[in-house]
Amino acid sequence: MFDSHFAFGVALAALLICVVNLVYTLIEHRTDKVQNKIYIIIISILIINSVSLLWTADCKEKLDTSELARVGIYVSRYIYFATHTALCPMFFYYVCSVSGVQFRLSNLKSILLSMFFVITEFLALTNPVTRVIYTVDDDYGFHRNWGEYLIYLAAAVYYVMTFVILFSSWDVLSGKRRLAMVFFFLLAGSGVLVQLFMPDFKIEILTEAIGFTGVLVAVENEDDRIDFGMGFYNRAALNLDMKSCVHNIRLVSLIIIRISNTEIVSKMTGKENMGIISDIVGGYLTSIVKRYNIYVPNPDTFVLAVYDKSVRDVEKMAQEISEKFDTPWEYGDMNIPLYATLMLTDIPGRISSGAELFYMIDSPLPKDIDKKILSGADLDYLIRRQAVESAVSRGLDENSFEVYYQPTYHVDGKLHGAEALLRMHDSKLGNVFPDEFIPVAEQIGLIDDIDDYVLDCVCKFVKTGVPQKYGMDSINVNLSVMQCMKPGFVERVSGIVESNGVDKHFINFEITESIAASDYRILSNVIKRLKADGFMFSMDDYGTGYSNVSAVFSLNLDVVKIDKSLLWNAEKDELGMVILENTIRMIQQIKKKILVEGVETISQIELLKYLKVDYLQGFYYSKPIPKDDFVKLISQGA
Ligand code: C2E
Ligand code: CA
Ligand code: CA
Repeated sequence: MFDSHFAFGVALAALLICVVNLVYTLIEHRTDKVQNKIYIIIISILIINSVSLLWTADCKEKLDTSELARVGIYVSRYIYFATHTALCPMFFYYVCSVSGVQFRLSNLKSILLSMFFVITEFLALTNPVTRVIYTVDDDYGFHRNWGEYLIYLAAAVYYVMTFVILFSSWDVLSGKRRLAMVFFFLLAGSGVLVQLFMPDFKIEILTEAIGFTGVLVAVENEDDRIDFGMGFYNRAALNLDMKSCVHNIRLVSLIIIRISNTEIVSKMTGKENMGIISDIVGGYLTSIVKRYNIYVPNPDTFVLAVYDKSVRDVEKMAQEISEKFDTPWEYGDMNIPLYATLMLTDIPGRISSGAELFYMIDSPLPKDIDKKILSGADLDYLIRRQAVESAVSRGLDENSFEVYYQPTYHVDGKLHGAEALLRMHDSKLGNVFPDEFIPVAEQIGLIDDIDDYVLDCVCKFVKTGVPQKYGMDSINVNLSVMQCMKPGFVERVSGIVESNGVDKHFINFEITESIAASDYRILSNVIKRLKADGFMFSMDDYGTGYSNVSAVFSLNLDVVKIDKSLLWNAEKDELGMVILENTIRMIQQIKKKILVEGVETISQIELLKYLKVDYLQGFYYSKPIPKDDFVKLISQGA
């Protein structure tokens, strides 16, 4: 039905496809992983197969005229069978490699799984002697023998095993890879099936060529795994690869490198910092581990996956990397100092899931760490952090938050107002202070609800009329910058106050100086609108940030709260005193009210009286206390 022209055409098409495929793979340098190597073997087999089929077809044409063609027909068929027999097992190994399953197999299992391959390959290679696969008759006709069916059977076994692995590793393959593998796998298989039942319809080589080219596009092409800014594997790739390690119980040591001052790069070079960090740090890291074992889950974080190395070796590597950060990095004629903290862990080992790994990668580093390499017990702060996260999450439901009040006074000792300060009494952790839980609440997105809760409590307190009764002007409520920046913030805040029927002048929002600098324009707009609505504003922690002073003051806030550290430093030395005095003088010159916090002693009060500040707040008068205690306190003072 089909002549040799048909076979020739099909083989030529397959050859072209495979050559393009191979050249593309080599141009893209996708050659270093085991998976890539097997892939190249597969494509090479298909190329050899196509060439041998072309050769066979050509020889058939010339049988009558050429002696060489008669030999050629034997040789080309021999080469075809010797190589084609390896195709299915190779695809099986390929899928094992992509899914990471090979690390789960014991040696014995691997040997057993390779048995079919070894036997059929042996038959193919010895066929000229044994003739168990095929024979060629006197007219150069081709006849299948039982050996060929054995090859089909072996192929079927590998085919089924490949499917089993594909499905058992379903989770560790990305969606795109799963579908592509199944589709192209079925396509390749369909050609084999057709040719099994219709030996003249030599279509198998073409469906295989197309099938594997599809695999190239979907699996070998790793665009979805690569972070283009950095040129290394991205977060998604790290997630899937760690899943694979957990699934296959393959221990991998991880060195997490967190650079804390990446912004210095753009400050020094005027260019995007990502590309440069990738060049200098990434470049160095590739001298330590293979490029495909480096991930960049965040722009300032590298993760190195280290396989098959002892804990000591990994520690040594980390030490070496950490020391490299002790000296500045050369970039052109610049020397860029970068600071990094390293974390060591392993999976599945000290941590057991990708989620835990990402927790380590994303949680802020504690401010007070003195080590450059964290491992073992150094990482216990993460456990505490996780506990605080859970506590914050259940806090609103379990009613564990309570608003405390700390009074503020005029310098002459008359009550002026109060600052609302939040406390958390957790059922498991006990009392947790806001310096610990507020940043956590911000990170997990619960700060809005918490700050709304505080504002609502304050409004309810104001509504009782008690604060007014004792001559208070206002109650201060702390705002998180994240909250202020959100669309609809002004409406929400006004809504809470209005629904409580409280005079807006009584609410004085505190925002911190460093925040005002960061997103100054949006913030300034929000403040303007809220002030127009009647709210008051204070600048908190003044003197701790590094903001543009004129920008900060153009925000037109009512009160500037000088941070306690300025007061405390003024008592320590001359320089501190100069800073405090001049800060106060400058704020007075632009006619803003001044509140100094952290007042703990009578001598501090004397100093601040002398410097003519307006209001005082601090432990000298009272710590933040629960509302009922606060009411008692102010009623006694009255
Ligand atoms: P902050 O706004 O600077 O609050 C002042 C902090 O100084 C309070 O700590 C207060 O207890 C403490 N303090 C006041 N006077 C003295 C003193 O004389 N000596 C000493 N040593 N400390 C004094 P607290 O209550 O632990 O709050 C810490 C931070 O947590 C606050 O700093 C504020 O930024 C944040 N925070 C507290 N409550 C809330 C809240 O409801 N919402 C938001 N967004 N942040 C809050
Ligand atoms: Ca405050
Ligand atoms: Ca403060």
